[in-house]
Amino acid sequence: MKFNPEICKIKDQRMRPFIDPDELWDYLNNARADRGRVREIIAKSLDKNRLTLEETAALLKTDDPEMIEEIKQGARTLKEKVYGQRIVLFAPLYVGNLCTNNCVYCGFKASNKQVKRVTLEKQELVDQVKALEDTGQKRLILVFGEHPRYDAQFIADSVRTVYSVKSGPGEIRRVNINAAPMDIDGFRIIKDAKIGTYQIFQETYHEPTYAQVHRGGMKRNFEWRLTSLDRAQEAGIDDVGIGALFGLYDWRFEVLGLVRHTNHFEAVYNVGPHTISFPRIQFASQLNIDSTYLVNNENFTRLVAILRLAVPYTGLILTAREPAAIRDEILQFGVSQIDGGTNIELGGYSKHKETEVQDIDLEQFQINDNRSLNEIMDELIGKGYIPSFCTACYRLGRTGEHFMEFSVPGFIKRYCQPNALLTLAEYLQDYAPETTRDQGFELIRKKLEEMKPDGFKDKLTEKLNLVKQGKRDLYF
Ligand code: SAM
Ligand code: SF4
Repeated sequence: MKFNPEICKIKDQRMRPFIDPDELWDYLNNARADRGRVREIIAKSLDKNRLTLEETAALLKTDDPEMIEEIKQGARTLKEKVYGQRIVLFAPLYVGNLCTNNCVYCGFKASNKQVKRVTLEKQELVDQVKALEDTGQKRLILVFGEHPRYDAQFIADSVRTVYSVKSGPGEIRRVNINAAPMDIDGFRIIKDAKIGTYQIFQETYHEPTYAQVHRGGMKRNFEWRLTSLDRAQEAGIDDVGIGALFGLYDWRFEVLGLVRHTNHFEAVYNVGPHTISFPRIQFASQLNIDSTYLVNNENFTRLVAILRLAVPYTGLILTAREPAAIRDEILQFGVSQIDGGTNIELGGYSKHKETEVQDIDLEQFQINDNRSLNEIMDELIGKGYIPSFCTACYRLGRTGEHFMEFSVPGFIKRYCQPNALLTLAEYLQDYAPETTRDQGFELIRKKLEEMKPDGFKDKLTEKLNLVKQGKRDLYF
């Protein structure tokens, strides 16, 4: 992994704000973005180098249709080079929607008296997890509003409950969190519960906009949120996810903010964020936002492709906020993780999808891809993607700095693809209807055929046979 000199800052920047809007606008206004320069930058990224702020700004600046096509093509090629055809699957699980904040874009805001406030009791949480396991899920992200009831201990207890639930061959092997910022002691408590990634989205990196859209509660404090994942790092959580909510401010500025945030982590902690999320604002109960900065599909595709090129080794997450057709289209430009079978209604997974109508007053926002996990599996397998439920790195301690070491060229293809095939085989054996099973095993056979014959291929074949015989949880 080659780091660029621009990000070689000093360690005492930890827990200090790092966004200078003038600096970001300077890059956006002054970057050279002629064809020669844009092509040079794409080539640098295809060589698996991180891009600087100035280089990212050049890609953001160009409006030349030919260059935009080349950026998208570059992102496609890079995705294939770094990640292969693997797509990691997970599901969100909302645990409680009490909230003391007033974020204008969110259905759970404290001022929304229409929303039904629910916190899952332990047994209700167990029922949700069982329902998720029974569809084949192995990776969850638990989501919480910001409320004194959801303190570090409550979140840690929820994580432990989730890990303890086993339904038939089902188990959850990795629990990520999306919740409010904590102090360092709080993050320590959560780390002890063995969480995967801790995600906190900055929403917008533009402080004046941040102040306009966050109208109450702790979340009004821009800096406390901006430095939150530094505190997580200080507490030993080296696996963190960042994000921006697109539609609040200029999309180009937000992309540069995400890259600046990545630079900060690399400079101070020697490891970038594990994932970047880029939700677009969706309809929500009592939604109250200005439409000036809403991002259209074309610009959304561009921003995903540019992020892929700017941070080649960072996971990119695209959620079911987006409709199926857009998700299927954008996958090719560098997305590495998606949710499947998503239901963000509190308690929604244990209801029967066919008989119950979704209730927007129990949801944070509207989701637009209602496909079941198996429908998503069919779509991915049909297009030659390898759906993966792999959790090997997290369980072998290959996270943070270590993860970076391992994600040197070759690692992902050598280890992640075989692990993806092993978890796919488990899913096919335990949860898939016959047609999915046949197509899935055909995909596995093809992928094995493409591997060069060596000891490693033999080991994988052996493990796949063990899965067919009923062994579970095998990985490299
Ligand atoms: N309460 C925690 C917090 O604010 O960090 C958890 C956040 S929320 C449950 C997860 C994310 O959903 C938010 O950070 C925000 O980016 C996104 N979100 C909120 N309202 C949204 C909307 N109307 N459309 C799309 N995404 C939304
Ligand atoms: Fe609360 Fe989070 Fe929604 Fe803001 S985004 S109102 S903090 S749940």
